[in-house]
Amino acid sequence: MELGPAGVGALEKTATGLTLNNFGKAKLADVFEDFVIYRDLEPLDKRLPGLKSAAGKMGLSDQSIPRKREIDYARAARWFAEKSQTLRNESKNLAELLFLGDSLYNDGQAFQNLHDLTEWQAACFIGDEKSAEEAAVEMHGEQTIYSANRWAALGDWAGHILAQGLALDERTLVIVDIDKTVLGAKGRNDAVIDHARLEGIYRTMDSVLGANFDRAAFERQYDELNRAAYHSVTADNQDFLAYICLVLNAKLIQFDEFVKEVRGGNLDNFFQFTRWVNSRMMINPIGSERLRQVHETVMNCEFSGDPTPFKSFRRQEFITTIERMGNMASDASVDEMLQQEITLTNEVMEMAKWLAARGCLLLCMSDKPSESACPDGSESADLPPLHRVETHLVGATIQAQLDALG
Ligand SMILES: [Mg+2]
Repeated sequence: MELGPAGVGALEKTATGLTLNNFGKAKLADVFEDFVIYRDLEPLDKRLPGLKSAAGKMGLSDQSIPRKREIDYARAARWFAEKSQTLRNESKNLAELLFLGDSLYNDGQAFQNLHDLTEWQAACFIGDEKSAEEAAVEMHGEQTIYSANRWAALGDWAGHILAQGLALDERTLVIVDIDKTVLGAKGRNDAVIDHARLEGIYRTMDSVLGANFDRAAFERQYDELNRAAYHSVTADNQDFLAYICLVLNAKLIQFDEFVKEVRGGNLDNFFQFTRWVNSRMMINPIGSERLRQVHETVMNCEFSGDPTPFKSFRRQEFITTIERMGNMASDASVDEMLQQEITLTNEVMEMAKWLAARGCLLLCMSDKPSESACPDGSESADLPPLHRVETHLVGATIQAQLDALG
């Protein structure tokens, strides 16, 4: 079933104060170990085969990478879950699904697809903190998706799903989203993730265009083209968008010319755009050798169905992300930390630990490109992977509520 945009209305509304604290440092691997799977669907735990070697066994027709909202993504997720259950010598079959995310559009649809595919008893929590509003919860998708404007509502949700009859034990698969869920909580700390991405883009532009990089023009053009009016060409893909802005900044194609072609309906997909760049490069060989290298990598990825074609940008994003983890002094105020550090969401980590202690199978599944989460041979070989980087745990505590549930 396709999720509609509208909710089913407020389930409850209570005015609760919001007190956030710093709970010291931790890392994702403390709870998830290497059970972390990024966009390329190649698990970090190498005992689990990935998309490249097992696409057929997953029920996928080829090795092109499905995005989170696609049904093939759910097929892959189910396969990883069943393989992980075998790997941990658990004889009980999986029969329940929990999903924790920050986006009703992406995580909500991924949950719905997996629920439809498995027919397991299922529940989903979507968090998006709006601390200026009264605490509220909305139910979506046949009452299975609990969408809250407080991350601390996870404590109430735990009681809610137990009351619905979920066992939350060895039969339960728990999928946790990374960006803006367990790291950089949406509505609370997510701007730091966006800042890291932008900084990664700027460093890439500096290295490709050097002194010719016009940052003011880039900012204007990026903001304009990041809108839905241009999604036919950008596909709302940050790699496509960054590459388009690079080409425009190099003046290989003029911004006005680009906008005119999109508005006139002559340019309506990314493939067409890369062909346009290709022909411009042949008749007008301006730009650096590095620009040509970026262009060739983008073209090659397009042919192989790789949705993350701007590799050099994603490698810079990895570095700028790690730089913003655990970077604040431990006596910094919580406000400062939330503005300048990518923190772990305390409520999500408490919930995940509680579920793990009950015997649930936990998987971190993220649409994040692995290039922006794992070190690379050249520029970042000495950095640890993102899930092994310590950063502060910030949020409210739901531990007393969880302890009361057993
Ligand atoms: Mg997310």
